Amino acid sequence: MDKFIPLSIPNFEGNERKYVDDAIDQGWVSTGGAYITRLEQGMAKFLHADNVAACQSGTSAIHLSLVEAGVKPGDVVLVPPLTFIAAVNPVKYQFATPVFIDCDDSFCMDPVKLKRFCEDECEWNGQELKYKGASVKAVVVVHVFGNMADMESVMDIAGRFKLKVIEDATEALGTKYTEGRYKGKYAGTIGDFGCYSFNGNKIITTGGGGAVTSNNPKTVDHIRFLSTQAKTDPHYYIHDEIGYNYRMTNLQAALGVAQMEELPEFIRRKQANYDKYKKLFEGFELGKLMPFRTGTESNKWFYSICIDRSKIKNSMREIIVALHDKGMETRAIWGLINEQKPYEGEVTYKLEKAPYYADRILNIPSSTQITEEEIVYVADQVKSLLEEMANG
Ligand SMILES: *Cc1c(COP(=O)(O)O)cnc(C)c1O
Repeated sequence: MDKFIPLSIPNFEGNERKYVDDAIDQGWVSTGGAYITRLEQGMAKFLHADNVAACQSGTSAIHLSLVEAGVKPGDVVLVPPLTFIAAVNPVKYQFATPVFIDCDDSFCMDPVKLKRFCEDECEWNGQELKYKGASVKAVVVVHVFGNMADMESVMDIAGRFKLKVIEDATEALGTKYTEGRYKGKYAGTIGDFGCYSFNGNKIITTGGGGAVTSNNPKTVDHIRFLSTQAKTDPHYYIHDEIGYNYRMTNLQAALGVAQMEELPEFIRRKQANYDKYKKLFEGFELGKLMPFRTGTESNKWFYSICIDRSKIKNSMREIIVALHDKGMETRAIWGLINEQKPYEGEVTYKLEKAPYYADRILNIPSSTQITEEEIVYVADQVKSLLEEMANG
């Protein structure tokens, strides 16, 4: 292979340049302009949601959701340990306390452990769930790598204990249920809040950007208001609440409108490429291609190989470096958030699967532009490297 194969790069095959040029020509480059509204409306239509607010990043979408959920200093928010740290940092921005709940085999929050934590470790007074005297206000559920979390179970538990559900769908734009209670529902439109990201490596990108939706359209209006410094009067500078500078710019939105036009095609390619990898990894025991939840159609944003640790003792770093030398970019799944410095000493609940997968998951190239030849090459190289390592 003469070309280095990247992990996940943006794809600008559509109207990106045209729309960005147009935004510049109109002089609307900042936090006002028609592309922002167009992107919001386009996303709402795609997601079958009533109202979507575009913002600066996935992180700001999550932060505004926590603010709107009423998460205050000292409150408890239930969070995942095995995901990108941006899903949890906003809990700290609110001076709230995260409690880390284990994941299941989809890498998403394990509803069985979530339920057990609420039942066994907390007190329910009929109004409020309390953990060591603090109010448990919300749960952040991340749809990891495009996989849908078990939302039926999560929503049952949240309903019973009056927890606000914040879906971090930053990796799962386009993932939906095809069966069951939420048939036809998209990731991010089931809980109280749904957060999306348009960072460079996500399925669509605006350079940096995000969006938030809610089952209550008025809530989304309020989030939009907070994202523009909470200015209450069009002519006077009057502010009755603390606002944020979290609004998306029109330049970003111009990119976003073009990317939304291509989203169905990007999803189609990700799904088709996953199927190709699946054939190539069939029966390969040293590294198994992880499946996505049945009863859902995933956007298949990232592909995960689970390494057989009974045979392969090499560190992830060694594996990644060896594959880099073969001309491809791969990456290790995240380090556990509860083990990162700012989270030392925080409460964890029965973490078993999270550390298990943290030590085993390797993500392999998944860009929408990847060719069939490259997929075959990646699979061959990964397999022969793991065989070599297993044979010492
Ligand atoms: C990308 C990502 C975010 C943050 O999105 P930004 O737009 O980079 O702020 C949050 N959570 C998860 C799981 C992500 O992958």
